[in-house]
Amino acid sequence: MIELTDVTKVYPGDVHALAGVTLTIGAGELVAVAGPSGSGKSTMLHMLGTLDRPTSGHVVVDGHDVSRLSDRQLSALRASRIGFVFQQFHLAAGVPALDNVADGLLYAGVPMRERRRRAEAALERVGLGHRLGHEPHELSGGERQRVAIARAVVGEPALLLADEPTGNLDSASGEGVVAVLRELHAAGTTVVVITHDRELAAGLDRQVLMLDGQVVGDSAIPPAARR
Ligand code: ADP
Ligand code: MG
Repeated sequence: MIELTDVTKVYPGDVHALAGVTLTIGAGELVAVAGPSGSGKSTMLHMLGTLDRPTSGHVVVDGHDVSRLSDRQLSALRASRIGFVFQQFHLAAGVPALDNVADGLLYAGVPMRERRRRAEAALERVGLGHRLGHEPHELSGGERQRVAIARAVVGEPALLLADEPTGNLDSASGEGVVAVLRELHAAGTTVVVITHDRELAAGLDRQVLMLDGQVVGDSAIPPAARR
């Protein structure tokens, strides 16, 4: 599903956010990316999600070499194949949950009635079938994040990327969100979760540990096999 090869990202000001990352994630995996603040986790998620291009190195997502695609083609790839969930839920204020989720299909060219039908199904999937008409301010933090997840998966992406999805939640709500991510994984979605919560990371199938822009640990690769 994802291949990063010797990927670097240098931000203006000579910030080496990624300093040579090589990582392969197979279809159907459930992966935690852990590491301290500033270690390059979000920058790596931007690479995995084709939201940004590397300074050097190779990124292949879902069989596509990112360097060979135009910005327009990358947008199309993201819209059809990749869902995103962020720490700040990024829901539209004053808009009911159903429409927040249905809007996730705007760029897929799906007619409105069908968008709303699929949105309802996605909200049921995250356990919010009884909150369709609630606006974000009428929902708890955990419920808002589940709406955000429903929006991310309403287009049935092959890959779901979550950056600190439980960062703003109490532990009970966080567990609810992780349970939803697990269900999506069980249904076949490849799920990558960035977290600095060690316990959350330890509970997922595979742990990738980042430090100073490099992968310094990967439970899928024994230490002796690492370069
Ligand atoms: P993490 O998500 O692990 O906290 P980030 O990937 O956000 O880490 O950041 C890695 C490093 O890159 C940090 O030192 C951060 O300050 C820097 N950085 C992130 N985004 C930018 C940017 N747009 N411009 C300049 N520096 C950035
Ligand atoms: Mg981050």
